[in-house]
Amino acid sequence: MGLFDWYRVDATERCPWCEGEIDLLQGKPDGRFLRVWAQGHRAPVDHLVEDESRLSPDGLAAQRHPSGPMEVSGTCHAGHWIRLLAVFDDDGTWVEVDSSEERRHADEKRERDRIAEWRRRNPL
Ligand SMILES: [Zn+2]
Repeated sequence: MGLFDWYRVDATERCPWCEGEIDLLQGKPDGRFLRVWAQGHRAPVDHLVEDESRLSPDGLAAQRHPSGPMEVSGTCHAGHWIRLLAVFDDDGTWVEVDSSEERRHADEKRERDRIAEWRRRNPL
């Protein structure tokens, strides 16, 4: 039994490290678990549990995510660990993904790698 929900970002959201596809991410919004929230939707789109404990379609439709930014994390298809903010409006609709912090980390790493490569090619 996982103590988290799943988060599915739009396919247009890409891994800040490699621009690859992002897998289902995980986050911990409240006491209900293993629902699948999808970017752009107001209610969970799925519930990944055994049949007997799965929420009914009406039960799923009645679920609302807490508003505000929610930290979600996981990996891209290539295995890069990523952490993003899923932003929910007052109505509970997932309206935005903020990946600026992770992009900054990826950019800094690329810059460090560039400098290390330059130093390797230009020994003192
Ligand atoms: Zn990646």
